[in-house]
Order: sequence, then structure tokens, then C-alpha cells
Amino acid sequence: MSLTTRILIAMAAGLGVGILINLIDNSGLSGSTLQHWLDDILVNGVLDAVGKMFVASLKLLVVPLVFVSLVCGSSGLGENSRMGAMAGKTLALYLVTTAVAISLALLLGALIRPGDGIGLEAATAFSAQNAPSLKDVLVSIVPSNPVKAMAEGNMLQVIVFSLLMGIAISRCGEAGQTVREWFVNLDSVIMKMVGILMELAPYGVFCLLAKLFAELGAGAIIELSLYFSTVVLALLLHCFGVYGLMLKLLTRVNPIAFFKHLRPVMMFAFSTSSSSATLPVTLRTAEEKLGVDNRVASFTIPLGATINMDGTAIMQGVATAFIAQAYQIDIGLTGYLTVVLTATLASIGTAGVPGVGLITLAMVLQQVGLPVEGIALIIGVDRLLDMIRTAVNVTGDSMVTMTVAKSEDAWNQQVFENSGKP
Ligand code: ASP
Repeated sequence: MSLTTRILIAMAAGLGVGILINLIDNSGLSGSTLQHWLDDILVNGVLDAVGKMFVASLKLLVVPLVFVSLVCGSSGLGENSRMGAMAGKTLALYLVTTAVAISLALLLGALIRPGDGIGLEAATAFSAQNAPSLKDVLVSIVPSNPVKAMAEGNMLQVIVFSLLMGIAISRCGEAGQTVREWFVNLDSVIMKMVGILMELAPYGVFCLLAKLFAELGAGAIIELSLYFSTVVLALLLHCFGVYGLMLKLLTRVNPIAFFKHLRPVMMFAFSTSSSSATLPVTLRTAEEKLGVDNRVASFTIPLGATINMDGTAIMQGVATAFIAQAYQIDIGLTGYLTVVLTATLASIGTAGVPGVGLITLAMVLQQVGLPVEGIALIIGVDRLLDMIRTAVNVTGDSMVTMTVAKSEDAWNQQVFENSGKP
């Protein structure tokens, strides 16, 4: 059985077992031995532990992988490096796709109006952090201590350090060549580690989903069904419509084949709710299945996992429209434009980890003068939306990676077409 099929089966089994535990829990068993066994030993014991170990085992590879892979990529660019052009294209595509994502979300939010007629009593206090200024974002990109940057997993700083090192290696003649060979070998070893951990994914995915659904009540989803479905509709349209169209127009590859290759990445993102934890799988898939050369993928994928969050932006767009409607506040066109800008800026420099979208949403709401406690209205369904939007986030990173690779002549069509074939 292929890994994709095994992960799919694990997801379905996790979902089923989780819902079953939830039903048993809610059937008036409180205090019984069965409930103690289910909740304390199974859900909060075994399932929780295995799920956490799985996510940690992915995260442990992120910093070494980004560092080594990006040093290989940038040191391979050569003297007349096109790094500047490639970085420019990547950034522009990330920004444009995010802006399209929020606009689509705001449009659907305005058309469907999920927030009309909502009661506001449920609100509780939720405080916002201030949105970082552009200056702060730029200054914080340069690390004063690369070891600290790695220890903290500060991806943008790790990227800057790795790029600098890679460029220096490429300009160091023979000495540089020796160091580069060492990094290239190390890169294969780390990629192998990713492969080994991916084999364990079905167990991890099963535990993550079973625990989540055992705890997740369906009540919130029914109450917020209009908001929930608006976000999901926008996510699907953006993922399959906008990305599919962009792929077709910009790269001429078959979008269906692209989405097929990307299935494991999307499933990892869905189960872990973290683009950052999914990064090793995204990078490996980009190189080994999509056929993108390491010199492009090693730069665009880590950058995307950090700054490109189209799915998150979509949730923020719909949520802003929803909260404005629920509180009957009209934020006007300038307000909506501010949402587009703030959400794009806020997503830069925030790592792709579970739930971070809600924190940046608080900044967005504050910026346009909407009550931040409105977040309490949507928090009930956010965990589930987080999973779906994270899958969109990583798909966006891969789509942009394909596009940049094609334009930089760093795409191997044969790998793309042959991967997945027996
Ligand atoms: N979980 C998302 C990610 O890692 C971020 C978010 O929307 O909260 O990409």
C-alpha cells in the first residue's frame, strides 16, 4: 500500500475512533471506570503522547533541514547568481496570492453575510498584540546570533544566515567546493531522516485525529455552520480554483497531477495544523515528486512556510466580515483595504504553528477598530478550520515553488511526470 493510502486510512480510522469516544463520553458515563479509562488513559495518555511525539519528530528536522538544504541550494547558484531575481519573484508571488486570498474571502463574506443576526452575549475578553511595523519586521530578519536563531527556530533569521553562508561558499573556490560537498552529503542524510519519519506518519496521524475528535464537540460547528462553510468554500475555491488556474497559466503543468503529488503534504498539514512541522515533507515532495531543483525549493519552501499563509488570510478575511456583521459595524472600503494590508503584514514573521492565525486576527481586528472580543464568537470552530487552512497554506507554498522553478529553468519535467508511477 502506498504511504498516501495508509495515511488516508489512518485519518479515517482516527476520525471514527475519536467520534466514537466523544459519543461514549457524552452518553452520561461520567465517573465510570470506562470513562476514566477512555479519557485519562487513552485520549490524554496514549493518543496525546504518540501525537505529540510525532509532531515533535517532524519539528526536530526543520532547522537542520532548512539550514543544510538552503546552504546547498544557494552555494550551487554559482558566481553570476540569480538569487536576487528569484527572491523577488518568490516574494511577489507570495504577496499577490495572499492579497488575492483575503480579497476572495472578503468578497464571499460580503456576499454570504454569515454574521447577520448573531447574538453577541457569548463574548469574553481577548486582548490583541500590536501589529509589528514594517521596520520591526525588516530589522528582525537579520540575526545577531545564528545559534540563538536556530535554537529559537526563527526561520527568517535562519534563512538569512544560510543564504549568506551558501553565497560565501560559492565564492570560496576549492575550499568552498569541499565544504559544499560535505553539505550536499549531509542533505541526503537529513532527507533520508525525513523519509524514515514519514513512514511512521500513519500512527501519528491516527493519534492526532482520534484525540482531536474525541474532544471536539459538534455543537459549535452546527451553531456556526454559515461561518464555517463560508471559510471552507473560500479555502476550496482558492486552493483548487486560483492555484489550479495559476498553475495552468504560469507553468502549463497539469493541476490535477500537481494536487495528486501533493496529497501527502496536504494530509500532514491537515493532521498537524502546522506548516512549520510539515516543512520537511513539503520540501522533500517538492524535490522528489514535483521535480523542483534544490536551489529553488530550498529557498522558496522554508520562506513560504514562514511568510505565506493564504489559508490563514482567508480565515481572517471571512472572520473580519463576520465580526463586523455580527456587531453591525460598517468598516467601509478603507477598512477592508486595511484588512488586506494588515493581514499580509501580520503573517510575515509569525511561524506556521497551530492557532497562530487567531492571534494575528486580533491584530487585524484592532487595526480596523472592530471589537477584538469578537474572536470569542468564532473560536469554537477554529481548531478544525486551522487544519483545513494549513493544508491550503502549504499548497500555496508548493504552487509558488513550481512557478518560480519553471521560470528559473529549475524544473525537471520527467521527475514530475514519472513520480507516482510504479
Ligand atoms: N496553523 C497555521 C499554519 O501553520 C497557521 C494558522 O492559521 O494558525 O500554517
